[in-house]
Amino acid sequence: MPEPLTPAELLRLDREHVWHPYGPMPGRTEPLLVESASGVRLRLAEPAHGQDELIDGMSSWWSAIHGYNHPVLNEAARGQLGRMSHVMFGGLTHEPAVRLAAKLVEITPEPLRHVFLADSGSVSVEVAVKMCLQHWRSVGRPAKQRLLTWRGGYHGDTWQPMSVCDPEGGMHELWQGALPRQVFADAPPAEYDETYAAHLGDLIARHADELAAVIVEPVVQGAGGMRFHSPAYLRVLREACDANDVLLVFDEIATGFGRTGTLFASEHAGVSPDVLCVGKALTGGYLTMAATLCTSRVAEGISRGEVPVLAHGPTFMGNPLAAAVACASIDLLLGQDWQVEVKRLESGLREGLAEAAELPGVRDVRVLGAIGVVQLDHDVDMAAATRAAVREGVWLRPFRDLIYTMPPYVTGDEDLARITRAVCAAASAA
Ligand SMILES: *Cc1c(COP(=O)(O)O)cnc(C)c1O
Repeated sequence: MPEPLTPAELLRLDREHVWHPYGPMPGRTEPLLVESASGVRLRLAEPAHGQDELIDGMSSWWSAIHGYNHPVLNEAARGQLGRMSHVMFGGLTHEPAVRLAAKLVEITPEPLRHVFLADSGSVSVEVAVKMCLQHWRSVGRPAKQRLLTWRGGYHGDTWQPMSVCDPEGGMHELWQGALPRQVFADAPPAEYDETYAAHLGDLIARHADELAAVIVEPVVQGAGGMRFHSPAYLRVLREACDANDVLLVFDEIATGFGRTGTLFASEHAGVSPDVLCVGKALTGGYLTMAATLCTSRVAEGISRGEVPVLAHGPTFMGNPLAAAVACASIDLLLGQDWQVEVKRLESGLREGLAEAAELPGVRDVRVLGAIGVVQLDHDVDMAAATRAAVREGVWLRPFRDLIYTMPPYVTGDEDLARITRAVCAAASAA
C-alpha cells in the first residue's frame, strides 16, 4: 500500500493537477474530500461546517438511484470482477453485455430493437447522431445531415452533443461558430400551446430536406435549465417527423429508469422514438456506461449503404463490469415497487419545497417525479448556497439560477425532509 496522504496534501495536489467538471485550472474553490459513501450518505474526510456526513441530494449527477455501497450491486461487481473486468468487444462477446442489451430492448418502448453500448452519455448521443446521418446517407439522401432541437436542452459535452445544447447562456456558448449549425425551435412551454405546436411542425416541415433527425429530452430538460414541458409535444414531434421523413431521437439519459415517474419519460406521451439514448442511472451510478437503441428501420437503412457498418467501436465498449452492474441495477429497480417510491419522493418534495415559493428571490418551484427544482430570479451565489446546504447536512450542486434535488430512490422520509430544508436554506442564502 502507498503511504496515505493527508486530506491537506490531497487537496493541494488536487488543486495543482486535477481538472474538475466545468472548472478552471488551477482550481479556485476547494472541493469537499469524500472518503466513502453508503446508502444516501457521503462520508467526508474532514468535517465541513460541522458535518462529517452529507445526504446526497444529487444522486451523483442523477445516477446513484439505489444509493451507495449497495450490497446487491457490490455483489454483481465482485462476481464479475472474479471472472473478468474487461475484454475487447470486437470479435468477442460475453454474457453481461448480451443480457444487458436484451434487457434494454425488453424494457424500452417498441419498436426499439438494437443496442449500441457506449461508454458515456455524450458518446451515446454521438452514436445516435451518427446512426441517423448514416441512415440517410445509406438510403441515398445525404443532404439530410442537420439536426433540429428546441432551446433549453442539454445533450452532453462532446462535439455533436454540444451543437444541440442550448446555444445561449449555456456551457457551450463559447463554441458558437465552430460547431455544426443546427436548427433550433423555441424552448417548449410548460403547458400545451397550439401556437407552439404549430411552430414545431412548421420548422420541421420547412427544413425537412436537410434534417436527419429531431433530438430532444422528453418531458424534462435537465442540465439546460431543469424545465418541464407537456408530454403532448412529443406526439407533435412524432407526427411531424413521420410526415416529413425525419428521424426522432429521445435523449433519456437524465429521465430514464423511473426518474419522472414512468420508467422512460416518453411513456408519459405513449410515443416511441427511432433512436433512444440512456445513461446516467443505467449502472445505478457505479460505472460509466450508456446505450443507444434504434429500430430495425434505422439499422436496415445503415446496412443497405455503401459502407454497411456502423463505424464506431470504443475500446471499452460493452465493458463487462459495467454491464453486469447495469443488469443488477435494472433488476433491483424492477424487482421493487419503484413507482410507489418515486411517488413518495414526489409528494415529499412537493410538501417540503412548498415554502420555498414564499421566499424572496424565488421565481418558481416545480416538482415532477423524484425531481424538485427551485428557480431563483437571479444567478445562485454558489459558495453561499453550498455552504447553507452543507450546514443542513446535505450535498447540493446548484447551477445558474437553479437549486434542485434528484435524490436516490432509497432516500427515507426524514432524509428527504432534510434535503428539502437544505434546498430552502440554500435558496434563502443564495
Ligand atoms: C448527462 C447528460 C448527457 C451526457 O452524459 P455524460 O455521461 O455526462 O456524457 C447527455 N444528455 C443528457 C440529457 C444528460 O442529462
